[in-house]
Amino acid sequence: MTPLAALLLQRIAATGPLTLADYMADCLLHPTYGYYATRDPFGRAGDFITAPEISQMFGELLGLCLAQSWLDQGAPSAFTLAELGPGRGTLMADVLRATARVPGFHAAAHVCLIEASPTLRARQRATLGAHPVQWLDQTADLPDAPLYLLANEFFDALPIRQFTRHGDAWAETLIGARDGQLTMGRAAPAEIAPLHHRLADTSDGDIVETCPAAPAILQAISARITQHGGLALILDYGGWISRGDTFQALKAHQFTDPLAEPGEADLTAHVDFAALAAHAPAHKYTTQGALLTALGINHRAAQLAQRLTGEALIRHQAATHRLTAPEEMGNLFKALAVFPAHCPPPAGF
Ligand code: SAH
Repeated sequence: MTPLAALLLQRIAATGPLTLADYMADCLLHPTYGYYATRDPFGRAGDFITAPEISQMFGELLGLCLAQSWLDQGAPSAFTLAELGPGRGTLMADVLRATARVPGFHAAAHVCLIEASPTLRARQRATLGAHPVQWLDQTADLPDAPLYLLANEFFDALPIRQFTRHGDAWAETLIGARDGQLTMGRAAPAEIAPLHHRLADTSDGDIVETCPAAPAILQAISARITQHGGLALILDYGGWISRGDTFQALKAHQFTDPLAEPGEADLTAHVDFAALAAHAPAHKYTTQGALLTALGINHRAAQLAQRLTGEALIRHQAATHRLTAPEEMGNLFKALAVFPAHCPPPAGF
């Protein structure tokens, strides 16, 4: 049993079953035993690999998309360049390198990283070298200024609640204890006001998930973009409107039982992009494959390929395919752009 499992069993004995959100929050970010709080989980040797770790092209193209939007919106002389959940800092490093030659962009940018894990903050510091950066705890702390923001695989790590429909009521998935082990069960069905609108598109037995932290985050981003301009690019796996059980655990690149080793496996759920877009002043939604293709990944890939041979060339071609092919990340991963109501959609959308 992991030390966190023992703590959670004590907590359940004292105060009763946990929602999936309570469980996820402790498993991912418990200060002593949380998954992100204690390690760098990325890369081949870690538990999973993300788009910026697959190829530099991901950050380059998204960075240039932000910079183009900054130019189109009049190149404001001071703005926030922010990232939510920057992991190793690779995406921001690629963004900064790709935008270094956009006149005035770096001079106007105040880089803010929103990161909960002290271990990963240290890793980001190392990756970004001397570049001035400010860390923030939450989006509510973002400066009152134009906002150009990236979030890749951030929202899938936010705690979710899960409900199964029974007539017009919903039974919440809970984690309790039996024979000294964590077990999953369901609460008695109850009316859940925030799910009333889902009665129209679901039927008995259907499962839906909600992300309680997401609305406030989108509201904080949208408020700055509405008032001062900007653009948020949110990429993640998921779809338009949550449907079905997507709560999952990943360890060493394999799916595993989410209750087996709390704190030792990554826990995620698919992102409901409709729930995020509901708070945006204006939005556009597409697949990661379509976005990267429209932003010119094939052109950039060909340019980089000219300098490569042998194994390196094969790896580069495989990375391009992995990011964009429909059967790889291209379709499973989606992209949402949040921009001001009076502006046209950004490049690539
Ligand atoms: N964007 C990176 C890492 C994705 S993993 C990449 O694409 O490689 C999720 C990241 O979000 C980690 O850096 C994790 O520590 C951070 N994170 C998770 N929950 C968070 C929260 N509630 N507040 C701030 N950061 C969080």
